Amino acid sequence: MNDCCSAPGLMPFEQALNQMLAEIKPLTASEEISFALSYNRVLAKNVYSPVNVPPMNNSAMDGYAFKHAGADINSLTVIGRSMAGKPFLGACQQGECVRIMTGAAMPKGCDTVIMQEQCQQDGNIIHLQKQVPQCSNVRNVGEDIKQGALVFEQGKRLTSIDVGVLASLGIAEVPVVKPIKVALFSTGDELKNPGEPLSIGDIYESNSHFLQAMLTKFGADVIPMGIISDDEEQISQALVSANEQADVVITSGGVSVGDADYIKAVLDKLGHIDFWKVAIKPGKPFAFGHLPSSYFFGLPGNPVSALVTAHQLVLPALAKLQNINQSSPVRLSARSNTPLKKAPGRMDFQRGVMQANTQGQLTVTSTGSQGSGMLTSMAKANCYIVLSQEQGNVQADEQVTVLPFDQYLQ
Ligand code: AMP
Ligand code: MG
Repeated sequence: MNDCCSAPGLMPFEQALNQMLAEIKPLTASEEISFALSYNRVLAKNVYSPVNVPPMNNSAMDGYAFKHAGADINSLTVIGRSMAGKPFLGACQQGECVRIMTGAAMPKGCDTVIMQEQCQQDGNIIHLQKQVPQCSNVRNVGEDIKQGALVFEQGKRLTSIDVGVLASLGIAEVPVVKPIKVALFSTGDELKNPGEPLSIGDIYESNSHFLQAMLTKFGADVIPMGIISDDEEQISQALVSANEQADVVITSGGVSVGDADYIKAVLDKLGHIDFWKVAIKPGKPFAFGHLPSSYFFGLPGNPVSALVTAHQLVLPALAKLQNINQSSPVRLSARSNTPLKKAPGRMDFQRGVMQANTQGQLTVTSTGSQGSGMLTSMAKANCYIVLSQEQGNVQADEQVTVLPFDQYLQ
């Protein structure tokens, strides 16, 4: 049986990823922006709370605030009202109480709230029908976040919830990393844009379009440069121009060893590039390196290969470039509903649909034909079935590792 060591010239996936990450130096340029525009941006500095949340002791219920004396209380005299935003400004003595609404500041002298349902009001006297423990129904100053506490760490990508947290702290401006500029083009004489007629031998270009969508979701500023012919001079000009405009240049096509694969020849002149045969399927040919002032990623032309290498190799590299704290993706174990064809030698990222069966167990079904030109195999899927480099065929009902598609594939 083959194993990874008998696949000469193929670099294991983890090695390719680690080697690439080791070469990438984060870009540290940052800017201050309004919190309201900060969704999906990456924090350039730690955020500490400028305030206590909540900012004062307040009531968790509609009821009556009073000073708990320790002993049982039968009745209290109502001396005023504390409403959210309209606090009671006086002080409350023992035997007195203040009508209070949820969120209203606790009046001076009060430590406890009794719910209105547990009292009977008779003029300005309330009769307590129940005894409540001291400090009941009070939300304490700073119990959610203390002033000065670390709220978010540098490198965090801000979610919709985080935007709300920033607002709740009264933070109007946040320091975020500047988005990286990514220039993108596809190479191939056969490629046409949607809307154009196809001549014999032509196909529609898809790679730059899903890459643009994926990179935009990642938060990059994408510079789309369209389709470049399989022509050494034109590829060279495009790379020079891309390098001048962007921090990162991504191309697709022309990275294998065909007669029209000029990327290697051009890059040998313009920069320093490593061409790798990464031991993954789909996606074997992949190039990574440096142009004079940018990083270069050369993706294979086959759409599924381009998509999987962009997702699994380029996005982690861009995350490092943007200083993003990434948690490792969650891998799950699922029972395969179907047998899976797998040859030892490369790590497979097969496409599957995972779902829970009636017993609540996670199962996965292959999307069928796994050709690297079949983009619809990816569109139907909601996860990768990740099969290790040395793994052979999988029988139906065997447990396999699944990697749910993340936001960049949605
Ligand atoms: P290449 O890597 O240039 O040899 O291309 C491999 C295969 O992918 C060929 O069948 C190409 O026609 C196809 N291909 C290359 N680039 C694209 C693209 N941008 N969109 C769709 N298919 C492509
Ligand atoms: Mg080509």
